[in-house]
Amino acid sequence: MNRRAFLKAIGGAALIPILPHGLSAATNLRRRRPSDAAWPSEAAWKRLGDAVGGNLIPVDFPLLIETDQAGAAATRLLKDLKNPYYIGDQPGLTQTLGWLDAWATQPSVYAVAARNAHDIAAAVNFARENNLRLAVKGGGHSYQGTSNAPDSLLIWTRHMNDIAMHTAFVPQGCEHTQQPQPAVTLGAGTIWMQAYDAVTTKAGKYVQGGGCTTVGVAGLIQSGGFGSFSKHYGLAAGSLLEAEVVTADGQIRVANACTNPDLFWALKGGGGGSYGVVSKLTVRVHDLPEVFGIANFTIKAASDDAYRRLIREFVSFYTEHLFNDHWGEQAHVNPDNKLVVSMLSHGLDAGQVKSAWQPFLDWVKRSPDAYSFEEHVTLGTMPARRWWDVQWWKEHWPELAFPDRNALSGLFDKALEHVLPQPVFDFDNRSGAGPNNAWWKGDAGQVGWFIWGFESLWLPASLLEPDAQERLADALYASSRYQTVELHFNKGLAGAPPEAIARAKDTAMNPAVLGAFALAIAADGQGPAYPGIRGHEPSVGEGRKAAERVGRCMSALRAIVPSPGSYVSESNYFEQGWQKSYWGSNYPRLAEVKRKYDPEGLFFVHNGVGSEQWSADGFTKI
Ligand SMILES: Cc1cc2nc3c(=O)[nH]c(=O)nc-3n(C[C@H](O)[C@H](O)[C@H](O)COP(=O)(O)OP(=O)(O)OC[C@H]3O[C@@H](n4cnc5c(N)ncnc54)[C@H](O)[C@@H]3O)c2cc1C
Repeated sequence: MNRRAFLKAIGGAALIPILPHGLSAATNLRRRRPSDAAWPSEAAWKRLGDAVGGNLIPVDFPLLIETDQAGAAATRLLKDLKNPYYIGDQPGLTQTLGWLDAWATQPSVYAVAARNAHDIAAAVNFARENNLRLAVKGGGHSYQGTSNAPDSLLIWTRHMNDIAMHTAFVPQGCEHTQQPQPAVTLGAGTIWMQAYDAVTTKAGKYVQGGGCTTVGVAGLIQSGGFGSFSKHYGLAAGSLLEAEVVTADGQIRVANACTNPDLFWALKGGGGGSYGVVSKLTVRVHDLPEVFGIANFTIKAASDDAYRRLIREFVSFYTEHLFNDHWGEQAHVNPDNKLVVSMLSHGLDAGQVKSAWQPFLDWVKRSPDAYSFEEHVTLGTMPARRWWDVQWWKEHWPELAFPDRNALSGLFDKALEHVLPQPVFDFDNRSGAGPNNAWWKGDAGQVGWFIWGFESLWLPASLLEPDAQERLADALYASSRYQTVELHFNKGLAGAPPEAIARAKDTAMNPAVLGAFALAIAADGQGPAYPGIRGHEPSVGEGRKAAERVGRCMSALRAIVPSPGSYVSESNYFEQGWQKSYWGSNYPRLAEVKRKYDPEGLFFVHNGVGSEQWSADGFTKI
């Protein structure tokens, strides 16, 4: 069966029940599809192919194999679908395979595997002149499916991953207003692991990127972008110094604080894929501390009442001891009355890490009938420069996995109570895979997954005031009755240093991020799963129930937040009032930038700036 026949078949059978009504019923199309008489001719495509040095490719759809072949090939594909590097290498796949009742990944017709801004400009001009639906994909991690579109032309930046370090970078045109500073230029297709390898492992510096190693730099920075240590360094977008962008008119422009400053501002958190195609980004490089710290443990409460008390104590303890720029990452409030702490610190030695947590651990230990620790308590530090050093982790895993105090000396400080219980990375084991092709085990569950429900909410720091803490704790308990509430402390900037706050203020992100102590996330899904794959179909009934639980969980929290805001890149596909939720008071200014640089709406993404003017599939102007 060929790709088109397959898509038609699954479109008729498997896909329709999980897509919202009306998505496939658009009439009066404006942008052209392959079935239209005015679809570009073979000769026209050939001209585009020549213009991009032969890098125009028909897009395969690897999920096809499941319906055509049983046995080994299918088994291999399902294994590959758990490998984010394999997925990233496929122009026809995305890291999230779909979202129940919303979207399921579908390949473009053709992709320009761009090598530089000129290839991108050729593709942009071709799409504009031929009225085509354009899709842009870097790391392919959009939860909302904004980097795939059927019947489209894809600009695929995967191979644009050149990296150049600068000791004294000055943005173009800013020679008289800005001091030279250390920076790194990243090709738009770079993923964060490649950036961390160059900047931290090799050069001993720090660049603010994402927690997940396989997320793309352009997608993350354009949505604002948080990593494990954002509470100290601020938003990834806050460190952007300059971007090279191809706008809808096919012009290759420089955007920075002095040249095209309005476009520059919009690129800093205004959402990927809406203003142009970024070809490279130059971001500030920061100093690296000696060590990063780790606090990992799980506490089980023996009763609901004990759990409520535990949450209250944790909220109070967080406020007093952790609400600062040292501590990021997560605490999970689980439905099974377990509090799971996986937090990371910046700028604290091992003694400070331990003493920061001691009061809380002592409180828990005083009530052995009410609380027990599951597995180990891990408190310690490790050399910051080795954080993303895959070879270092490989060499030291034996000692880490099989603790022997003597072997550990020099690796972790003596304050470590216990060692990491298991290796922390998964690897790309394909033959010829790069040595740094690794991803945190904590992100593995989201590779190739099919989302059932996903929502997020910034929690204002006012909830940490003494008279509000009980309200917050009660709401966390109530919401945890439906679904795990993940508190991502590094994704709210309250408590960050003034410089990080100032840089974030000068971005397009919802200002709610500035006053939030954490981003709360509730999500559920399954994977790998895709409609039409035998034995791996999305579970419609179970998924809808899960989506309802996610919704109720977040409603319980929303009830205590006067003006709810959500992080555009990690939020609900069905977000109500998304303009305000994602961008707050910045939306009108973003809409103006959109009108200026893309008046015809060539760039369309679901719930992106200006998308109100288009049908849900981005084909029809409303
Ligand atoms: C497993 C996982 C972990 C994540 N972890 C984090 C995290 O730790 N911190 C965080 O902040 N976010 C995180 N995210 C969210 C992630 O940052 C966003 O989804 C981000 O937009 C992904 O960028 P990408 O290039 O990988 O994805 P893509 O899907 O390729 O792109 C995302 C959007 O940006 C657009 N885009 C991509 N490249 C370009 C370009 N060159 N020019 C213009 N537009 C472009 C696309 O069209 C799309 O709309 C995570 C997502 C996943 C799936």
